[in-house]
Amino acid sequence: MDEMIEFLHKGPLAPLKKWGTKFSIWPTHLVTACCGVELAHAFASGYDGERLGVLNFGMARQTNCIVVEGAITRKMARALKITYEQMPDPKFVIVMGACGIKGGIFWNGYNMVKPFEVVPVKYFAPGCPPTPESLLRCFRSLQKEIDTGEAKNSIVYPEVKKVEEGKKRAKRVPPSPKYVANNPSVIVDMPREEKWAEGKEVVAKLSEILGELCEKIKITGKNRVAIRIKKDNFVEAAKKMLEAGFDHVKSVNVVDVPHENKFIVEYVTSSYLNPEYRSILVTLISEIERSDPVFPSLIEVWPSADYLERELHELFGVWFEGNPWMGRKFLLAPDTPETPLRKDFKLQEEVYAGGE
Ligand code: SF4
Repeated sequence: MDEMIEFLHKGPLAPLKKWGTKFSIWPTHLVTACCGVELAHAFASGYDGERLGVLNFGMARQTNCIVVEGAITRKMARALKITYEQMPDPKFVIVMGACGIKGGIFWNGYNMVKPFEVVPVKYFAPGCPPTPESLLRCFRSLQKEIDTGEAKNSIVYPEVKKVEEGKKRAKRVPPSPKYVANNPSVIVDMPREEKWAEGKEVVAKLSEILGELCEKIKITGKNRVAIRIKKDNFVEAAKKMLEAGFDHVKSVNVVDVPHENKFIVEYVTSSYLNPEYRSILVTLISEIERSDPVFPSLIEVWPSADYLERELHELFGVWFEGNPWMGRKFLLAPDTPETPLRKDFKLQEEVYAGGE
């Protein structure tokens, strides 16, 4: 077997094999983000990537090239690795976009993974988004490499002179941006009052339904109402809303306000069954102490809140009392750090240029 492989690689048929591989690049595209549009562009009629002998393919086991299109997250990294391992040799990886090189606009996100740390990358198409030309250039370079056995950079970079010790840099490198403002001047409160003619009637009805449980109620836009409720009254208020026809939760949100030592918890509710409320979104808002982030779970009232509460528990560390999934990691990848969406989460910092 080894002799046969040797013969294929070095024997008289080797040029034929190279020629065949060169014009049979079948990339499986890992569309993780917007770079995928540029790949589509490269293979649409304008650029017609197929004329180069490159044909996009959907099956990992019959492909010999992966094009990673943009950002790779911790969860996606697993899929990338599995896909790569299923591919037959010879196999190549091309990475598109700033996201795939250094994380791009998500560069310090808790969930970002650099593809070259997961699989061996042959070529990068830089840019955000990279142009179709730059992707096709990667394929041309790869074909050249298959042909000649050596990878050549087509760009000549200017020579970088080493700065002598003790001497100042000619150019000042901007300091890295500050991501966490200790005391932002933004006042985090209920959204401002908006006009909505028929809304007054809805507000009157909701005030009547909730009675003393309602601390504050506001119209926040057309078909939008926000109600502030104390944490201790929240479950009772939710039950009253359910009786009135608000039969499901559309979303649950947590807002971290570290400078006021609080989390704002929001449940956005609406109705499928009551036509009167079908077009209306009512947000129930409450606050909890950041140092003791416990909030009553509403899954008994609205089962659709379940996954959302689990997600927020993992992202912010809010403990939804009564939800049996608290304390477990369920949605985030196992090696994701704890509570990554809290504002005091230490963001990844990379020193990529020296200061003065
Ligand atoms: S590099 Fe730009 S275009 Fe590509 S995935 Fe990232 S954000 Fe989207």
